Amino acid sequence: MKKSRCKLIFALDASSKKRFVSWVDRTKDMVGFYKVGLTAFTALGNESLKILHRKKKKIFLDLKFFDIPNTMINASLSAAEQGVDIIDFHLLAGGGNLKDTVSGIKAVVRKKKIKKPLLIGVTVLTSFSEKDRMRSLVLNLAAAAKSSGLDGVVSSGREAAAIRGRFGKKFIIISPGIRLKPGADDQKRVVRPKDARKDADFIVVGRPIYTADKPRQAIVSILEDLKQDR
Ligand code: C5P
Repeated sequence: MKKSRCKLIFALDASSKKRFVSWVDRTKDMVGFYKVGLTAFTALGNESLKILHRKKKKIFLDLKFFDIPNTMINASLSAAEQGVDIIDFHLLAGGGNLKDTVSGIKAVVRKKKIKKPLLIGVTVLTSFSEKDRMRSLVLNLAAAAKSSGLDGVVSSGREAAAIRGRFGKKFIIISPGIRLKPGADDQKRVVRPKDARKDADFIVVGRPIYTADKPRQAIVSILEDLKQDR
């Protein structure tokens, strides 16, 4: 067993404050990084971020911005001002738009002296199946992310090795679609934690934790698997 540099991010896809707070309270001694996505943010707004800040947790705000540069810069700035650690962008926003967005964000955070969140591009959703031959599309999108100045990408663990090989050690890879056992839900390009750990910097896990009978035991199993060699 080895200590892995790959960290767990728990996806808090809760649609009520009660559930959101209870998931954080039940796991806060085991998890340092949480993801707030469309479900929690549309239900709770930035109260979700405040709750996590009060517990001194790191935050991935997964809203997949896809807009004109001016709008993406302003939204990113709001997130940065609220102390979010990671934000993400839809890579189909296009290389030129993303380059302008990245340079705009960097200029404003420098001027305002606020910490720049990691800027991450979303490649192909893990709910697309393998037969859709997504690998080359993922690599092309990752290349667009790199040349736009983004810090890394969200991709399935199945493409993580290829991305790591091509874009190097410093390029951040975040992998959702993590399952200890293949399940029967919408995630198709799934991998086990132990298969993601070599190349991904973070794994994102939601339902395998919050729908488990024993969520804390589910986290233990995921963290144990993360330490396994393949
Ligand atoms: O419940 P599950 O483990 O499938 O949760 C995965 C989380 O990661 C969800 O919040 C989903 O929105 C998010 N995500 C994803 N695939 C991406 C980007 C984000 O599944 N490409």
